Amino acid sequence: MAVLRFKAIESAQNRTSVPINLHSEKVSEYFGINTFSDKVMRSTLSSDIYKQVSQAIRQGSTISNEVADAVASAMKSWAIGRGVTHYTHWFQPLTGTTAEKHDAFFDIDSNGEVIEKFKGSALVQQEPDASSFPNGGLRSTFEARGYTAWDPSSPAFIMESGQSKTLCIPTIFISYTGEALDYKTPLLRALHAVDKAATTVCHFFDREVKQVQATLGPEQEYFLVDKALFNSRPDLVMSGRSVFGHQPAKGQQLEDHYFGSIPVRVRDFMVEFEYEATKLGIPVRTRHNEVAPAQFECAPTFEEANLAVDHNLLLMDLMRQVANKHNFEILFHEKPFAGLNGSGKHNNWSLGTNTGVNLLGPSTKAKENLQFLTFFINTIKAVHDYAPLLRASIASAGNDYRLGANEAPPAIISVFIGSQLMKVLEELETNASVQIGKGENLYMKLGIDKVPPVLLDNTDRNRTSPFAFTGNKFEFRAVGSSTNCSSPMTILNTIMAHQLNTFKDEVEEEVKKEPKREVAIVNVLRRYVKESKNILFEGDNYSEDWAKEAEKRGLENIKSTPIALDAMISESTIKLFEKAGVLNKQELHGRHEILLENFIKKVQIESRMVGDLAVNHIVPTAVKYQNKLIENVRGLKDLGIETESISTMIEAIKMVSHHISQIQKLSEEMRVARREINKLEDTREKAVAYDEKVKNAYFDSIRYHVDKLETIIDDEDWPLAKYRELLMIR
Ligand code: ADP
Ligand code: MG
Repeated sequence: MAVLRFKAIESAQNRTSVPINLHSEKVSEYFGINTFSDKVMRSTLSSDIYKQVSQAIRQGSTISNEVADAVASAMKSWAIGRGVTHYTHWFQPLTGTTAEKHDAFFDIDSNGEVIEKFKGSALVQQEPDASSFPNGGLRSTFEARGYTAWDPSSPAFIMESGQSKTLCIPTIFISYTGEALDYKTPLLRALHAVDKAATTVCHFFDREVKQVQATLGPEQEYFLVDKALFNSRPDLVMSGRSVFGHQPAKGQQLEDHYFGSIPVRVRDFMVEFEYEATKLGIPVRTRHNEVAPAQFECAPTFEEANLAVDHNLLLMDLMRQVANKHNFEILFHEKPFAGLNGSGKHNNWSLGTNTGVNLLGPSTKAKENLQFLTFFINTIKAVHDYAPLLRASIASAGNDYRLGANEAPPAIISVFIGSQLMKVLEELETNASVQIGKGENLYMKLGIDKVPPVLLDNTDRNRTSPFAFTGNKFEFRAVGSSTNCSSPMTILNTIMAHQLNTFKDEVEEEVKKEPKREVAIVNVLRRYVKESKNILFEGDNYSEDWAKEAEKRGLENIKSTPIALDAMISESTIKLFEKAGVLNKQELHGRHEILLENFIKKVQIESRMVGDLAVNHIVPTAVKYQNKLIENVRGLKDLGIETESISTMIEAIKMVSHHISQIQKLSEEMRVARREINKLEDTREKAVAYDEKVKNAYFDSIRYHVDKLETIIDDEDWPLAKYRELLMIR
């Protein structure tokens, strides 16, 4: 094993840079050239067909066979003209990754001639082998088949991989009876619900608003590790996380990596994946180092949420591919290295109208300001009422290691709004029963006539909050780096839709008592502020004090996934989701089951990894080292040499032997625990047991002994690439 480690270090040190696809044109020349964009559709479809498609995209209405045939034909010609040979329906099954099934464009006709064929029916619907995707028991009760269906709101794109080019068509994946089997279907339903609800509420202020879109800008954090070093660590290969590894002498404490200069090899990788992303119309913008060594971030400009989700998944795929070309492995795991910063995917979210107004953007005009406060306070209320559900939306085995650890928000959901807005809300709350005399400024009396100027500068920040208002959007920071954003976005938009519908009803009730509508709105908002202010927190979310304070406030602090997921199938969740038409009871239960199974599998794999590495790699190394010491002591004694080093070595022998026996004992106990747990029938019970009786009971304690041995044993013999080696990129 040690041989493998040193070979890997050598390869990593001798890397030369890989030539990159350089491009001399301006970004505007190639942005989106690999997408069947609106512009392409306009130029390749007849104006009538184009009008029907764009209307269907805008309104989510169905597309006729005739239109589908015309689009398919245009898509095929466009793609073949660009060297594409195959097409695939690209979808997001509940495995958490994306899936594809490639079909060739050519076919053999009845005369045995080869023809290039792609019919509307093939564009609109396909039937992948659904049995190989998780369904949480859903399909067993229905027909065993599922199909994919075109999502025209996300443009088809050409994926280039080496010499091959494939046309990818974004689709939803559902069962024959209409149950969602993927992440995209409920997201589209939630986005539709929030559009309807928000548009209605906008009509209190502006009758011109016809549509409201949820917007999303996901900031993607990740680690890069040299490919050879990555491959030398079975734990990284199998679980994306290092299960052992002593802290490096030069770790995060220096914090000189953040905003430091980016190593050349990494920059080459970034330049290339950004180029590839740009061709696919993904608006990647900023790049910088993150807090931990070898950690980086990429932030795109925000887009309509469904498109942004597709783009993020696509971007992750591209990054993986390009990283490989540059001899890196990219880690999207939330906590690949203990003791260092984890990786998140901050979901920047807002709502925007078709008239160009950002509903979470404060305005200097009093009237628009009331609209801003309406959406702002309704968001806080929604988060307050459904905090456990939001927590569930980001629950995963990986994120459990991150939430509440180094530089990561805790598992307690709270909202940061900044001191200025805090003051605005306080004022709103205390300005009870205002009397508005004739000719008096209503907004001034209500204390909402102006927005603090600092706020418009968008400078008030709190980086420790799991859900922070950052000037003109909320930033859901607790989302993990490997998460499909559909999950948090489905839940956030669903709870927001529900909240806005309730708000509308309550304002209409209030208007019966208080005919001045602005005052009625303020009255309802004031009540919301009172009811939900215990979720607001401005202090340091990383501190111990906050955990105590949150408990006093009755806020939940659910540290583990199996428990957090309970919120997905609670009575109130089922009611909420069914009413909003996003997911029904069966679909929720199906998803819940799949997420628990994913969790179990992850912990199971890690546990086997921990056991295997500890017993078959670390223990033999330690025994060898121990024998070396024993021989040395014996040799010295044989020669009659009495030195102090003999007693030091005897101490070391005892230490090594202690750690070896502990590792053996704990690993065996863990194996037995696993065997017992595997007998459990109930998935939730099994997941909880894996969490408590395997992961919590053994991972850290075994790690403790292994990491101690790392500091004792001769560096020459140590089998696993060390943290300092994994993290230092040349
Ligand atoms: P920071 O790292 O300080 O959080 P960044 O500039 O890196 O800030 O990221 C901000 C993200 O928020 C970007 O992806 C940006 O596009 C996104 N964003 C800005 N305005 C909105 C909005 N109205 N809706 C959704 N996302 C937004
Ligand atoms: Mg951010």
